[in-house]
Amino acid sequence: MKISEFATFLEEIDKRSGRIEITQLLTEMFRRAQKNEVKPISYMLLGKVAPDFEGLELGLGDKMIMKAIALATGASLEKVKELYDSLGDLGLVAEKLREKRAATLLDFTTTKTQERDVVSVFNELLKIANTSGEGAQDTKIKLLAKLISELNGAEVRYVVRMASGDIRIGVADQTIIDALAAAFSANEELVERAYNITSDLGFVAEVLAISGEEGLKQIKVQPGRPLKPMLAERAQSLQEIFEKMGGKAAFEYKYDGERVQAHKYDSRVELFSRRIERITSHYPDVVEALLKGISAQSFIVEGEIVAVEPETGEMMPFQELMHRRRKYDVEEALQKYPAKTMLFDVLYVDGVDYTSKPYLERRKKLEEIVQESDSLALSTMMITQEVGEAQRFFDEAISAGCEGIMAKTLDPAVGYRAGNRGWAWIKYKRDYKSELTDTLDLVVVGGFYGRGKRAGKIGGYLLAAYNPSNGSFDTVCKVATGFSDEDLVEIPKMLEQYRIPQKHPSVNSKLNADVWYKPVVVMEIVGAELTLSPTHTAAFSKIREGSGLAVRFPRFTGRIRSDKSATEATTVDELVEMYKSQLKKVQE
Ligand code: AMP
Repeated sequence: MKISEFATFLEEIDKRSGRIEITQLLTEMFRRAQKNEVKPISYMLLGKVAPDFEGLELGLGDKMIMKAIALATGASLEKVKELYDSLGDLGLVAEKLREKRAATLLDFTTTKTQERDVVSVFNELLKIANTSGEGAQDTKIKLLAKLISELNGAEVRYVVRMASGDIRIGVADQTIIDALAAAFSANEELVERAYNITSDLGFVAEVLAISGEEGLKQIKVQPGRPLKPMLAERAQSLQEIFEKMGGKAAFEYKYDGERVQAHKYDSRVELFSRRIERITSHYPDVVEALLKGISAQSFIVEGEIVAVEPETGEMMPFQELMHRRRKYDVEEALQKYPAKTMLFDVLYVDGVDYTSKPYLERRKKLEEIVQESDSLALSTMMITQEVGEAQRFFDEAISAGCEGIMAKTLDPAVGYRAGNRGWAWIKYKRDYKSELTDTLDLVVVGGFYGRGKRAGKIGGYLLAAYNPSNGSFDTVCKVATGFSDEDLVEIPKMLEQYRIPQKHPSVNSKLNADVWYKPVVVMEIVGAELTLSPTHTAAFSKIREGSGLAVRFPRFTGRIRSDKSATEATTVDELVEMYKSQLKKVQE
């Protein structure tokens, strides 16, 4: 297919907005294409040269494209910029300047000797994307300039847009799938399934064009090729979940981190994000943990990467993982907030595809192959048919720093549904989020030893609120963040004088601290919010039977309130008031 014919199709598509019409146009285009053209056409329709997970991006910056346009058309860079300011689209700028050039030279012979076809244009774009190393920018500009100088009208407009990584025709993946199915008389569901288990539309299109439906059926789940993730519906209540799931379900903690699909093959591990981008380089620690902790030659597993506080192993807010996005920050982040991967699914192990197997079978396999450690574990899970039990599990999840729970169907007929959002997975999250506006003054009643390089030193503290009704100190949280290196040395030293061999009789705690202190020292902390928690004793059963109040994500502000005695600390009643006003704020 000549590039001019392809561009004419794109122009027609651009003019329509109805999905049916667009699908018809695409179908006609695929029918007219040669077999070897179907793959490049599919990628180009998406403004790409390869599937996202290959990380091969075209997306040249505006500046580079402007230089290429100037070079190709003889216009000054200023002129190109000026036109860009008024037209707002580099595709149109290139098209306009090419027209001018042709008109002034009145000569197409040098530029139009041989019209390019879609494959050759695609290969040029691929070459541009693949150019790297020293002088890459210049080479890319020259390659693009040459391409521009050989194209005209709509061709140049679309090719320049492709080079910028935004083709602007707004054709969705699903529309291309429908058109491919129609063009090659294949079952739509088969095409969709092939796409969902490979995440590579170009690949699927080519298999379909060459080997038809039979070829599609041969496409298998394969390590190295990411699957589209299975997604969850949302429920408003636990009752609703039980209704949808037929009265019984598995529940898992819903971790607040980054979803990861990990593939092991050829003795190496690759990590893919929820959006199917390769994120292996962000998490060398995760790669190592998976290589060590999973006993299989090849696998595909899924989980949530969370940041943990190195001293206590407690989970940190999701934001701490954001440092991993910047290359030069990875090293530092590795030390400061190591990652822990909470695995919740397995899709493939040593030649066996697990996607069609039911939840319980997949979970069992996961338990079998994973050896848990500080950096790798299975998601916390329970199976129940009782709302009360599920509610307690939810409270526990929140107080452990999670954002809620995920319910998963036990239906033996339901497997892992790649790329689908449905009621086989249901998320149930807290429906409010608010920052605690006040700081809290809490009493240090216990301490915990750190881990890793801080092993043997106190790295976290058990904190309590004061309960004036019976004079007890009731626990509300463990705090392990916000301490400077100096604090980590000085505070334990200062606390040493209050150390006692056993829990102080006035302390009311369900948790077992490594060391106990007399309730004397008051520490100022901030937190994200107050939550219900079965593990802490403050305001126990006051708001909900069997639950106390806890501070979510507590952090030391740096201040020891030596001006306050323990009985002047924040009281349990104050916490109850704060919790209630937090609820009110959300309802407003
Ligand atoms: P949401 O992003 O709110 O639609 O919730 C779905 C996301 O929750 C998934 O994409 C995962 O990243 C995350 N998640 C955390 N824990 C789990 C779990 N145990 N099972 C499945 N997904 C989980």
